[in-house]
Amino acid sequence: MRKIKVDALIVGGGIAGMQTCLDLADQGYQVALVEKEASIGGKMIALSKVFPTLDCCSCITTPKMSAVAHHPNIQLLTYHEVQSLTKIDGHYQAKVLKKPRYLNEDDCTGCRQCEYACPITLPSAFDLDYGATKAVRVPFSTAVPQIAVLDIENCILCGKCEKACPVDCIDFTQQPEIIQIQAEAIVLATGFEITSPFTKKEYGAAENHNVISAMFMERLLAPTGPYGRVIRPGDGKEPDSIAYIQCAGSRDATLGVEYCSRVCCMYAIKQAMLLAGSLPLADITIYYMDIRTFGKGYEQFYQNAQAMGIEFVKGKVASIIEDENHNPVLRVELIDEGSQVVKRTHDLAVLSVGLLPHYDPEAIFQVSLGNDGFVDTPQFNAYPCITGREGIFVAGTSAGPMDIVDSIVMSGSAAAEAAAYIEELRKAPLQQAKSEDVYA
Ligand SMILES: Cc1cc2nc3c(=O)[nH]c(=O)nc-3n(C[C@H](O)[C@H](O)[C@H](O)COP(=O)(O)OP(=O)(O)OC[C@H]3O[C@@H](n4cnc5c(N)ncnc54)[C@H](O)[C@@H]3O)c2cc1C
Ligand code: SF4
Ligand code: SF4
Repeated sequence: MRKIKVDALIVGGGIAGMQTCLDLADQGYQVALVEKEASIGGKMIALSKVFPTLDCCSCITTPKMSAVAHHPNIQLLTYHEVQSLTKIDGHYQAKVLKKPRYLNEDDCTGCRQCEYACPITLPSAFDLDYGATKAVRVPFSTAVPQIAVLDIENCILCGKCEKACPVDCIDFTQQPEIIQIQAEAIVLATGFEITSPFTKKEYGAAENHNVISAMFMERLLAPTGPYGRVIRPGDGKEPDSIAYIQCAGSRDATLGVEYCSRVCCMYAIKQAMLLAGSLPLADITIYYMDIRTFGKGYEQFYQNAQAMGIEFVKGKVASIIEDENHNPVLRVELIDEGSQVVKRTHDLAVLSVGLLPHYDPEAIFQVSLGNDGFVDTPQFNAYPCITGREGIFVAGTSAGPMDIVDSIVMSGSAAAEAAAYIEELRKAPLQQAKSEDVYA
């Protein structure tokens, strides 16, 4: 079994995990980053632009992805997953599954000849199943590392990729491997998942293709998006009237998500401003319960959107039905107009979906979770990155909904806490050895 010894193990390669790695590695600590997907980047690499600066997301994320991949103190393990964790003599030992990519990673140049040759077309998870991908592919254009991955479940073993590969690196016989990582500290940065746009049946997203999630709107607005422009997925028509439905996955006891997802107001305003730029004649309306613009420069951002002519309507959208032209028809209670209920028709409805924890680390990492399912931080006000388990820290949205700025700040804090913990551990090795705990 291959064994790796590092100072810190970071789990999850989104912006939080990458920043934690860089902050530790720049201080001279040896770090291993375990990411379950075939590329690092997390959700941020799929976004269009970031609020409140409207900087290009790829322009911020790709240099960090590249810095992680090329840092001499970071070992990047993509397509790996931690399977079990043991603590021996104050050190954590993780058994990590290396999932087969069915090709030789050292030889793959990311040239994509295999992808072009593959006859199997599949929905692209990166584009939320709207775009297409192949059974063997480089995960997306800005993926790091630029190494292909073969989806054996959907492969028909026709061998066309094998013939097309100029360096003969396809290997259908590759097997999963287990590696062992020893680390003194662990940082969980496993991020978030969006609430499903299909859960709230009243909004009809499962039946109406012109009711989409805000995450998909990010892909439509991104330069790397599936269609290269904003169109209705239902019929390819350019929308003239777009509605945002706020809290369409948050602050809703019927969905079991009672908390505010914190970023939805700001990303809806951001997308509305970007849409005003790409579709200047379109009317954009945001239906909201209350607008929460809490961060630095955020209130000004909201006011700028109002000045640009984006309509903000204080109203609760009860349901969305489809008219004969597949337009979403919203039934809205207008709170500022005596709670009268009206019907409003738009070309496209965007659900401002909320944030859920991506991964439950309780069984393997033995950290406790809060009532919302995110990793609990029992001393949140004094030590926001410290979990209930000694030596295990948390960064970014695995601790709860937050934006990119807060994720980055929390990652710096997690790196500092992890470094301090490692130094303490080294000062008192015997004392630590006594407190050993072992479990699978
Ligand atoms: C539609 C939308 C628009 C947004 N727009 C903005 C914006 O403009 N500005 C802004 O500040 N914020 C925005 N946000 C919020 C922003 O996306 C998050 O703040 C940020 O991505 C959080 O990063 P993260 O690293 O915590 O999580 P993630 O990006 O979710 O990364 C977590 C990583 O961990 C990996 N992982 C998960 N489980 C495991 C496991 N068991 N083992 C190994 N790896 C694992 C995942 O594959 C992923 O790569 C937006 C959010 C949404 C939904
Ligand atoms: S062997 Fe599989 S991955 Fe390769 S080209 Fe054929 S279907 Fe695609
Ligand atoms: S597997 Fe071969 S053909 Fe495919 S990207 Fe890698 S080097 Fe290119």
